[in-house]
Amino acid sequence: MRLPGLIDPHVHLREPGGELKEDWDSGTAAALAGGFTAVLAMPNTRPPICDETTLGQALDLARRKSRCDYAVFLGAGSENAAELAPLARRAAGLKMYLDQTYGPLRLDDLSHWMAHFAAWPSQAPIVVHAEGPKLAAAILLGAVYDRSVHLAHVSRRDEILLIRRAKERGLKVTCEVAPHHLFLTQDDLPAIGVGRGEVRPVLGTRSDQAALWENLDVIDCFATDHAPHTLEEKDGPNPPPGFPGLETALALFLTAVHEGRLTLEDLAARMHANPRRIFNLPAQPNTWIEVDPAEAWQIRASETFTRCAWTPFEGFPVRGRLKRVVLRGQEVYANRQVLAQPGSGQPLRPRFGDPPNAAHIPD
Ligand SMILES: [Zn+2]
Repeated sequence: MRLPGLIDPHVHLREPGGELKEDWDSGTAAALAGGFTAVLAMPNTRPPICDETTLGQALDLARRKSRCDYAVFLGAGSENAAELAPLARRAAGLKMYLDQTYGPLRLDDLSHWMAHFAAWPSQAPIVVHAEGPKLAAAILLGAVYDRSVHLAHVSRRDEILLIRRAKERGLKVTCEVAPHHLFLTQDDLPAIGVGRGEVRPVLGTRSDQAALWENLDVIDCFATDHAPHTLEEKDGPNPPPGFPGLETALALFLTAVHEGRLTLEDLAARMHANPRRIFNLPAQPNTWIEVDPAEAWQIRASETFTRCAWTPFEGFPVRGRLKRVVLRGQEVYANRQVLAQPGSGQPLRPRFGDPPNAAHIPD
């Protein structure tokens, strides 16, 4: 059975600066092995991607090493709002960290939030990591500046209910939910382990998880928030937050389809059509994935391509398996092998602001 090439709007590929965890080569091999033909990479690298020089460096690394198509976010800092705006057409969007995260990009000052909402082009995406009351603040900022806001990895009952209200009021709000918040709760922490279970936002309660499923119609995208750290780090004294997710998401969602909790149309909308629309991405011609929806198997980190070598879903029984990935006419994954070479991925330049017929690639 064929599905469109999946698009993950939220991955951390760790390069530059965190190559022991992942790099553009290993991370995009993991993407293809998970059915993703395009990834949008977050800017909290070392150094962070927060100006023209670091964006250029990240795009150069991606050009040389990426095996799937890609775009890179710019990170909002305390001083760079005016500098970033002219770079919008070269970036996946602007990422604002209003809450605790991994890395140095957290923004605490309201004046800095306002500077970015005022300066960033209105048609280019702003993605916000904001939890609880800060999520409400982000929605309000979008309304005040009359622009769209994409809310990253929503995890709580109150948050998804507030987003429902905001959408009902006509606010330009979109959101994504990560598979670990749909398929895991706090109750799974003993099995995952204390250090390995560190993730932001933290795993929710069963009530939070149920609310996400009950409000599936409010969820625009499934985004993995693939955030690899090595097992040595996760099992060490200061475990950093983050789960790998690229190679487990599709099987988890196909399992939900098998169980009747989701339709294939729901899946394709949230893993292809909606991220493509929200992030103004061009079509990837002759691109699709092939899955066997019936195959039963168990998730094993030992079979993955990510450098981090573990998964919070170890041993999970799943139904539905990726068989083949075709990207721009080339077979790039088959028989559990990644066939694409590093550097074969292409940059996805967002199309906002283009005249309607300019450079349109038919689907
Ligand atoms: Zn993230």
